[in-house]
Amino acid sequence: MNTGIVYDPIYLEHRIGVHVESHERLIGIMDFLEEKKVLENPDFKLISPRAATIEQIRYVHQESLINEVKEVSEVARITGHIQNLDMDTAVCAKTYETSLYSVGGNLNGIDSILNGGVTNAFAIVRPPGHHSNSYKCAGFCIFNNIAIAAEYLFREKNFKRVAIIDWDCHAGNGTSDIFYDGSEYGELVFFDSHQDGRTLYPGTGFINDVGKGAGEGKIINFPMPPRAADDANILFFNEIIAPVCEEFKPEFILISAGFDTHWTDRLTNMGWTYQGPANYLKKIKELAAKYTKDRILITLEGGYEIDKQAKAVYNCLQVLNNNNHLIEEKSRESENDVMNYISNKVIPNLKNSLKPYWNCF
Ligand SMILES: [Zn+2]
Repeated sequence: MNTGIVYDPIYLEHRIGVHVESHERLIGIMDFLEEKKVLENPDFKLISPRAATIEQIRYVHQESLINEVKEVSEVARITGHIQNLDMDTAVCAKTYETSLYSVGGNLNGIDSILNGGVTNAFAIVRPPGHHSNSYKCAGFCIFNNIAIAAEYLFREKNFKRVAIIDWDCHAGNGTSDIFYDGSEYGELVFFDSHQDGRTLYPGTGFINDVGKGAGEGKIINFPMPPRAADDANILFFNEIIAPVCEEFKPEFILISAGFDTHWTDRLTNMGWTYQGPANYLKKIKELAAKYTKDRILITLEGGYEIDKQAKAVYNCLQVLNNNNHLIEEKSRESENDVMNYISNKVIPNLKNSLKPYWNCF
């Protein structure tokens, strides 16, 4: 089994000063992969990105957003100063170009899975995307990489059913907005686990937000109370994701992977270990084996403890490549009060709100 790793130094050129979403995040990952000799292993294949076309960016974004990113990058170039799109989303002279490559890296990852000799791929890209909706960049994100990847599968590769699983600690509000009414070109289910929006940015992603119109029942939020650990998402997988996918039968699985669920992450309050995402991915991989011919593309979203993120990404790459030998720290389980709340409140309420749309509930 071959696993693609999409990476290019162009992703370091989105440099936005002293900021948690720093280019150092990718340097940390790539240095660790080098130390572990991952790229020397013939089971892994380095994939270079391309720039996505403007038409592809338009699959999910309005012209005004695209122009704004382009123009503000140009202002940054002329003035030599970093510019801001909102309180926490910054732009430098290279942001527009880098963002086109961030999207295009994911598209090349998909192409390599479909006909480039890899079974699955991890796009180690930035800027991230899942907070940007059709008209507004937000939360360190520029173009919504994962949403464009889904539309690319629908519009250019003839896929009919795609699942996106977002395990970043923050709700993927941009992705949710984009697919809230469904897509004109295919069926999409969005599984979004995150720290409860009452306790964390962006303050969205509640159980009753299930989508509308063609998207109704297909936006599936799993808001977790602070301190929830690795076991919480396994429960979400077993109780919700697995039965829904059995009914939905996705043809491709896309993952918005954030590593800011780690218990030390400076922006969040969760309890995951750095083997947590990989163990969750093992379950997702079983689904992919059943329904998607093993096709999984992972894109990098957040993750702000550079050393922990590097280990977590390494672990996910091992799992993608059928090697379950992980780098592990002391395991963590959710405390009883947290797990009781999830088992007795969150999961039953979620099943209840999804009942009208899925026979499994
Ligand atoms: Zn995040």
